[in-house]
Amino acid sequence: MPDDLLAQLAELGAGDVPTKGGRTLAYVYDSGLADVDELARQALGAYCDSNGLDPTAFPSLRRMENDLVGIAADLLDAPPTVVGTVTSGGTESCLLAVQAARDAHPSVERPRVVVPDTVHAAFRKAAHYFGVELVVAPVREDFRADPVATAAAVDEAPDRTVLVVCSAPSYAHGVVDPVTEIAALAAARGIRCHVDACIGGWVLPFAARLGRPVAPWTFAVDGVTSISVDLHKYAYTPKGASLLLHRTPALRRPQYFASADWPGYTMLNSTMQSTRSGGPLAAAWTVVRAIGPQGYDDLVRQTLEGVDALVAGVGGIDGLRVVAAPDSTLVALETDGSCDVFTLADELAGHGWYVQPQMGFAGRPPTLHLTLCAATAPGVPDLLAALAAAVRRAREAGPVAVDPEVAAFVAALEPATLSEEDFDGLLAAAGLAGGGGDLALPERMAEVNALLDAAPPRLREAVLVAFLDRLMRPARGTDPRWSS
Ligand SMILES: *Cc1c(COP(=O)(O)O)cnc(C)c1O
Repeated sequence: MPDDLLAQLAELGAGDVPTKGGRTLAYVYDSGLADVDELARQALGAYCDSNGLDPTAFPSLRRMENDLVGIAADLLDAPPTVVGTVTSGGTESCLLAVQAARDAHPSVERPRVVVPDTVHAAFRKAAHYFGVELVVAPVREDFRADPVATAAAVDEAPDRTVLVVCSAPSYAHGVVDPVTEIAALAAARGIRCHVDACIGGWVLPFAARLGRPVAPWTFAVDGVTSISVDLHKYAYTPKGASLLLHRTPALRRPQYFASADWPGYTMLNSTMQSTRSGGPLAAAWTVVRAIGPQGYDDLVRQTLEGVDALVAGVGGIDGLRVVAAPDSTLVALETDGSCDVFTLADELAGHGWYVQPQMGFAGRPPTLHLTLCAATAPGVPDLLAALAAAVRRAREAGPVAVDPEVAAFVAALEPATLSEEDFDGLLAAAGLAGGGGDLALPERMAEVNALLDAAPPRLREAVLVAFLDRLMRPARGTDPRWSS
């Protein structure tokens, strides 16, 4: 029986985006080190039953967490006062940075957080969850946060501003914000400054060691009060591990939560989770130590050589260009209008390459997002050939066009007034609904993506939420033993 279930798991996974093989340029981070992967799986399994709820009951987990925070502290030029927490992922690290900043000022009635418009959507989620006003400052032409616009946004209500955020680098364009200027303006006003280095935090320090130009962004920068770094991205650890570091224990204090107001154990939590598996922490501890600083030097060198080759190669593909010279390992591509990025994404997927379309934003056209990692970098010559071929085929097909009448109809829709039947109709019209309530993604997503791109952001959100709602419906009766 167990054999059969594991075989079923393998069968279920066959339809997933490949996590290995070097052709998935979003979602997965692959070191290409099979022996490290094997170690990680063993560590994950060995600690999957332990519980991070109480570090006195599981001193092993406390030890591993403090070890990882200590390693990160060295990497991020932290002062001796630094403290940190292992969280479940980048989103949780960012949420906690906002929550701690908010709760450090209980007397501020309508707290606000100032972010560049390129900031990760996790901060919009934080604002939504925690009732904080998100004040969005436009970025500069080069896609980096604008210190002037940021200062202006802060100064509209400096007393209510509890946090200023910048990215190292931003997810969408892969460039590092001017952290020195932003942190200085925050510090001058006595406001916390968080650097979201979820995706770059385990790359940029090694890039700097390799002699690459890296603008200052760590705790070496005055005024930086907290930094988020995901381990499950470029530290290549299994999913479920990220770090949030604060410059001092006092800055972290409001992040901690205790409750004695119930008849059970006195709850004492450092993160949003309470019971949490020790597996991802143990696996992260194992992987970080197995790869080691020289190992990461090599992985980062390999990855950045791939980025250089990709940027140079894209320059030679007529019709395609890099949106911004990458500061790290993320590359955004756009077309010259002779073809469209959504068709390119389909063409690439048809040839086994998975890239992520990014919708148009703030008057800029849609782009393709490519996350390179150590295992994908050596494939860049093949990727460039695939990109060139995709552009040829996409040009032959012509840019995917949304019927202007449909676009006008969609643009006029008011999401709040739409009924479930309206959403059913919209999803069907978009090709996202099959017969009999069965939802299947169409083979080619270009038309769907073009339509979503034409939709106003609020409508796009509402349609996708309706889509997710219909995707996630229980499968009943699949195992007859459970249905009577
Ligand atoms: C990935 C990412 C996040 C969110 O991290 P998750 O691990 O997906 O929750 C936040 N900020 C940046 C810059 C990221 O790249």
